[in-house]
Parts: sequence; structure tokens; C-alpha cells
Amino acid sequence: MLDFFESLDLQTLVYVNSILVSIVIFSHMVLLIWNPSVPGIPLWAAGNLALASGFFLLILRPYLTVFLSIILANSLILCGYYLIYLGVRSYMEKRLPSHKIFILFMILYVLYEGYFTYSSFSLNSRASLTAVATAALSFLISWETSRKLTSRSIPYLAFSGTFFLHGIFNLLRSFLLTFASPEMPFFQGGGMAKIVFLELIIFIFAMTLGYIFLISVRLVEKLRQLSEIDHLTELFNTRALSTLAGKAMAGARRDNSILSVLLLDIDHFKEINDTYGHAAGDKALHDFASTLSKSVRPTDLAGRIGGEEFTILLPDTGKEEAFKVAERLRSMIEGMNFNYEGYSINFTISIGITSTDGRDKTFDLIMREADTALYQAKRGGRNKVVPYDGSDHVQRRLFTSFYRK
Ligand code: GH3
Ligand code: MG
Ligand code: MG
Repeated sequence: MLDFFESLDLQTLVYVNSILVSIVIFSHMVLLIWNPSVPGIPLWAAGNLALASGFFLLILRPYLTVFLSIILANSLILCGYYLIYLGVRSYMEKRLPSHKIFILFMILYVLYEGYFTYSSFSLNSRASLTAVATAALSFLISWETSRKLTSRSIPYLAFSGTFFLHGIFNLLRSFLLTFASPEMPFFQGGGMAKIVFLELIIFIFAMTLGYIFLISVRLVEKLRQLSEIDHLTELFNTRALSTLAGKAMAGARRDNSILSVLLLDIDHFKEINDTYGHAAGDKALHDFASTLSKSVRPTDLAGRIGGEEFTILLPDTGKEEAFKVAERLRSMIEGMNFNYEGYSINFTISIGITSTDGRDKTFDLIMREADTALYQAKRGGRNKVVPYDGSDHVQRRLFTSFYRK
């Protein structure tokens, strides 16, 4: 094993390392341009830039002063890890911490490194603190991402694991530096330096893959959201609702409970468009939808199935209870004003209701029943809630646009 490390050429490792870091920075700039909306990327790019600057200063050690190529270099590298940590928090959509502790640490770090360079020279004491600080920041990054770990989150596992192993490596390194007896020359062909650069190459490679994993997770989430969420109202769209209805029906079968379905249609909505304009109609639809989702339980599923037509699935809710929910929504909307550029817009809604135990009907049939009930509510004068009464549901004209797509 030792022979293996001795056979490696330190200069080659250093060059490979610097080329790799440059590629990472470059790829980050490209990712940044392509995905400016993924949070965290700018901070990661800045972090990698700081890491790269630090590594280049380390490489230029034979030509630069100790201050530039050791103290400044390592400070930049630590700032790089800190920026990556901030990037991870931003990616996780968490508040960024106050930077006071880190700034205080960096001041103490520079003083400490200066002391062991100029006052009482000790290569190992100097390198040991750098390794401990690297380990601490790596563990912090690993811990942030590990909180998203479930059995299916391989991207998070890869990212968190990379930083965890990097932290362990640096902890061991600082342990060796503190307790190994002969002073090891860091940059003159020492075995330690070779291992450090070899590990760094592997780490940078794994970290880059980790970034790409995390970014792809975000993009996949975004795509799924785009395909399942209605843009205007931010409620589920028809496609998502069909899938969710299937799951809700399976849930009802499993728990021997009743699933109720409300079909809502805004009354005379065309008049709102005609009176206040289409933009006012859009705003009213948006505000109405957010009122709906705030007024139902978190387990209820609200979706938009057409222009001004909505469905709410109420799991574990019997017919009477569903009627109460619908009646509450109806009277709430009746008494509400929706504002648009100084206008106060009000309207009413009609609701059809039906229920299932998840065994007796298909979702298609449920929607037809709710539609029949809604049609009766409209015919009965609007601003009404009507439960499906078991009458013939093979009606020729369907009220909603659910099947007209
Ligand atoms: P009813 O009481 O019979 O339901 O009358 P209504 O006017 O609500 O029904 P109708 O189906 O005749 O018209 C629905 C209107 O909803 C027509 C359309 O202009 C409007 N609408 C549908 N989608 C949108 C939308 O996304 N934005 C806006 N502003 N209006 C929409
Ligand atoms: Mg309508
Ligand atoms: Mg309609």
C-alpha cells in the first residue's frame, strides 16, 4: 500500500487536481446559466471559485510567500466550504445563518496560522487546524443533506455521503498531524501530501456528481409539478386528480370508509368576464381556488377540472358530512368579495355531491353522478348544494367540461 503511494508523482496529482477543479468551476458556470432558478447554484459556484483559487495558491507554493500560498490559500478553501454549506441551505430552501460565527472563526484561524508560521513555527499545528475546520464544515454540509434521506433519496445520500467521508478523512488527517512524531514536509514528496491530493481528486469528482444529482432532483420535481398542477389556480389538474382519485378509492376500500366527491361550478362566471374583463376573471379564479384549498382539511384534495369548474375529493367523509362541507363552502363564497383593481367582485357557486365506498363505482361513474347533481343544482336556480339522488346517471348532456377534453 505504501509502495503504491510512493509510486505516485506528487506534481502530477497536483496538476490533475487543479485541472479537475477548473472543470468543476466551468461546469458550474454552465449549470448556472442553464438553471438560474435552482436555488443554491450561485453559492455553489462561488464556493467552488474560492476552493479553486485556494488550490491554485497551494500549487504555486514554490513561487509564493507562505502567507499567500498557505494562510490565504487555506482561508479561501475554508470560505469555499462555507459557501457550499450556504448553497446547500439555500437549495433546501432554508434561511441562511448569520455569518458572525464563521467570520469570528476565520479571524482566529488567520491569527492561529500566523502564530505557527511566524512566531513558533509548527507545520503540523498549522495543517491540523485546517484539517479540523475542513472536517467540521464537511460534516455540517453532510448533516444538512442527510435530513432529506429516505430509502429512495439516492441523490441526497450520494451528496451527504461524499461530504461525510471527506470529513472523516480530514479528521483522521488532523489526528495524524497532531500525534505523528516527525514533522512531515507537506510539499516535498511526502506520502501524506500524496494521499491528501489523491483524496481531493476523488472528492472533487464525487462532489461534482453530487451537485448534478441534486440539480436533477430539483428539475424532476419541477417537471412533475408542471405536469400535475394547474398554472392559474395552483390546484391539481385533471390528470393529477384522476391518479389521486384512484389512490383515494383504494384508501376507502382498505379502511372501509366512504369517499365523497364535490363538483363545483361558479354561477354565471361568463358575466364576470364580460363585466370586468378576462384578467379580472383570472384573478377571481385564482383567489377563489386559494380560498377553497384553505377551507378544506389538509387530507382533502382540491383540483381544477375545467375553466371555472372544480372538484374536491373528501376522503373518510360520508354523504351527510360532505353536504355540510359543501354548504359551508357555498355560504362562505356567497358572502365573500374578491378584489380586482378596486372592483369588488362577488359570485355564487353550485355544488353536486356523490359518495362511494371505493368498490361500487368507477371514477368515471362518480364524476357522472356528481355532474348530474350539479346539473340539478343549476336547474334549481343556482347557488345550491345538491347530493346525487340515485336517478339515471347516463345523462346525454354532461354539464361539466370534464369529458370534453
Ligand atoms: P353557469 O352558471 O351556467 O355555470 O354560467 P357560466 O357563465 O359560469 O357558465 P359557462 O359554462 O357558460 O361559462 C363559463 C365561463 O368561464 C366562460 C369562460 O369565458 C370562463 N372561463 C373559463 N375558463 C376561464 C379562465 O381560465 N379565465 C377566465 N377569466 N375565464 C374563464
Ligand atoms: Mg359556471
Ligand atoms: Mg362551467
